[in-house]
Amino acid sequence: MYIKQLPSHLINQIAAGEVVERPASAIKELLENSLDAGATQIDIDVEQGGVKRIRVRDNGRGISKEDLPLALSRHATSKIASLDDLEHVLSFGFRGEALPSIASISRLTLSSREEGAEQAWQLQGSGQESFDDPEPCSHAVGTTIDVRDLFFNVPARRKFLKTEKTEFRHLEDVVKKVALSRFETGFTLRHNQKTVLNLRPATTIEMAERRVSEICGPAFTEQSIRVEHEGAELRLTGWIGLPTFSRSQADLQYFYVNHRIVKDRVVTHAVRQAYQDVLYHGRHPAYVLFLDIDPAKVDVNAHPTKHEVRFRESSLVHGFLYRSLHRTLADIRPQDQLSDDA
Ligand code: ADP
Ligand code: MG
Repeated sequence: MYIKQLPSHLINQIAAGEVVERPASAIKELLENSLDAGATQIDIDVEQGGVKRIRVRDNGRGISKEDLPLALSRHATSKIASLDDLEHVLSFGFRGEALPSIASISRLTLSSREEGAEQAWQLQGSGQESFDDPEPCSHAVGTTIDVRDLFFNVPARRKFLKTEKTEFRHLEDVVKKVALSRFETGFTLRHNQKTVLNLRPATTIEMAERRVSEICGPAFTEQSIRVEHEGAELRLTGWIGLPTFSRSQADLQYFYVNHRIVKDRVVTHAVRQAYQDVLYHGRHPAYVLFLDIDPAKVDVNAHPTKHEVRFRESSLVHGFLYRSLHRTLADIRPQDQLSDDA
């Protein structure tokens, strides 16, 4: 017999290679889980760029005692039950891979209290085949996931980590991207005991704009215009930079499809085309845009990290984006642009 079934902790470690590249990818999964749980407040504590510790605490619906071991088991998810569900999925997660993957390459503690439960429970998980029974702990309704010593048992991965500063920069980028996708949720981020971000829940356009300003810088909000376009089954909202606020790099471009940040060629092309006549060659537009689309018309299962999506009718999406942005840009009165130059 040469062929052997791999033990599950090894399968998880292999899967972790796909999902968790560095602390930033771990935090993305944890934040998406908190949002999927309906959290309105998420507090993040990070030590040493996230390598030593990432702790995410939320006030979402929590996990029951019985479900704690399942949350750390591979292919166990509360978010879909059938292929049909996958067609309509609006949650960030659905693969049931993130927590078991992260647990297999770190020292993880999961603490949670479910809505309506009298008691909170805690479970340790670090790459073992089975779990001990959950232990009582103290926790408000919601969940805390404490991830210590990322890659402690994967030296090959650890070697590829960059400096604390670089890892933290990537992690902070992710937090900002996620914070732009849910204005109604408050976020705090602390690094080595120091508060780096404190974003209050935003319930009005003005408050949302303040968050955009905190994340993208006040210059962007001052020199951008609001976009609001409704099409048949499509809706585009957000802010786009005035042509005068063009960038030498494509570094201020946030595009969300149903709250999920994506990098997509169809999108990039449509935006670029809309700006074609107003931007100098080699300059890049800045934007924070949200596209709402029927989930059945977009495939989010194109890649494990879900950065990519596939539009079922990409030319329709392209046309809608191009027309909406082109019209918004054409509507800018010349003096708006002049005043920015003055
Ligand atoms: P997925 O998100 O794809 O379902 P995960 O491995 O990320 O898979 O999480 C497994 C399950 O654990 C989720 O389906 C959810 O039921 C539960 N879970 C994870 N994080 C949280 C959280 N912060 N709050 C409530 N439930 C959670
Ligand atoms: Mg998940």
